[in-house]
Amino acid sequence: MHSSLRILVTGGAGFIGSHLCEELLRRGHDVLCIDNFYTGTRNNVAGLLANPNFELMRHDVTFPLYVEVDRIFNLACPASPVHYQFDPVQTTKTSVHGAINMLGLAKRRRARILQASTSEVYGDPEIHPQPESYWGNVNPLGLRSCYDEGKRCAETLFFDYHRQHNLEIKVARIFNTYGPRMHPNDGRVVSNFIIQALRGEDITIYGDGQQTRSFCYVDDMVDGLLRLMESPADCTGPVNLGNPVETTIRQLAERIIALTGSRSKLIAKPLPADDPRRRCPDISLARRELDWEPRCMLDDGLMRTIEYFRATLSA
Ligand code: NAD
Ligand code: UDP
Ligand code: UDP
Repeated sequence: MHSSLRILVTGGAGFIGSHLCEELLRRGHDVLCIDNFYTGTRNNVAGLLANPNFELMRHDVTFPLYVEVDRIFNLACPASPVHYQFDPVQTTKTSVHGAINMLGLAKRRRARILQASTSEVYGDPEIHPQPESYWGNVNPLGLRSCYDEGKRCAETLFFDYHRQHNLEIKVARIFNTYGPRMHPNDGRVVSNFIIQALRGEDITIYGDGQQTRSFCYVDDMVDGLLRLMESPADCTGPVNLGNPVETTIRQLAERIIALTGSRSKLIAKPLPADDPRRRCPDISLARRELDWEPRCMLDDGLMRTIEYFRATLSA
């Protein structure tokens, strides 16, 4: 990114947001991080608080926010099923009212704004891997709908502000991302398996473990988000960001057991409702438009994440 900018990161005290704030500061920008600490923590950004270019503000994006910034990364939203299903109405409000407020702010400031959307907009996909042109197969009434439909509505708002108010928008569809500072209790597969393996507890495979996901290391994700933000104005997205290497959940469990040297056993648990069978991004658009692709191999990223959880569990 060119000279120093004032950059707002909503949800900046969360997992991906904290890594993004860190990288933006490293590049010399002023960062305003806002978060209501629903799933994020002050601890995630503790290392940044001493930096004079960093400011942390407790704020909920469902309320208006008047600040002077040049760029907005809108990441505020609980991301894991356990957290987004705890208060589903609040989840939809965060996505929809949050988007309206941040778009209103971007419109007043003529600031460029990026939305952290999700592969969940594809629902349980009938097309594989998923290109951005696929409209998705989403249940509007299920337990995941508060998240999926909230994120879909946020995309609609972004494109309508773009068409109606000429806003410079960027929409990233983020696929499963993992790394240090994942929430230990959010029930995500990578954090669950690593914590179970380190504690020698049974590894809980939901269903037959043949469902697939594609796991992107957080540093690669941050690089993709930054490239998208700085891409030419006509590159609005939506653009898929994720790792195209598909892994079954059983294979993931086996890698984590091998890398931790754990004696944990694999046990079967019921598959949650609406759990997608397969998920893998088609990243040709990101390759072409952003010259981006993930570089971190699964084993390397898992090792760094295992080291993080080893340190936090023993602290
Ligand atoms: P996270 O839960 O760690 O981060 C979300 C942050 O938003 C947290 O710090 C939380 O406290 C904050 N937040 C929630 N509601 C808020 C509100 N109303 N006002 C202000 N702050 C609020 O999750 P993450 O994995 O870092 O996800 C970041 C973004 O990326 C989310 O928008 C998520 O939907 C999206 N995403 C993540 C993944 C993934 O695999 N991690 C995949 C797809 C999309
Ligand atoms: N908004 C905000 N900060 C700003 C400007 C607007 O939070 O700096 C909010 C405000 O609450 C408003 C929403 O963004 O309701 C949408 O703004 P917009 O200008 O699009 O709509 P309007 O104000 O006309 O309803
Ligand atoms: N999963 C699992 N055991 C766990 C947690 C998750 O088998 O302890 C499975 C889950 O059913 C899903 C996959 O792992 O098929 C990814 O789940 P996660 O919640 O991490 O992400 P999402 O379903 O949103 O992609």
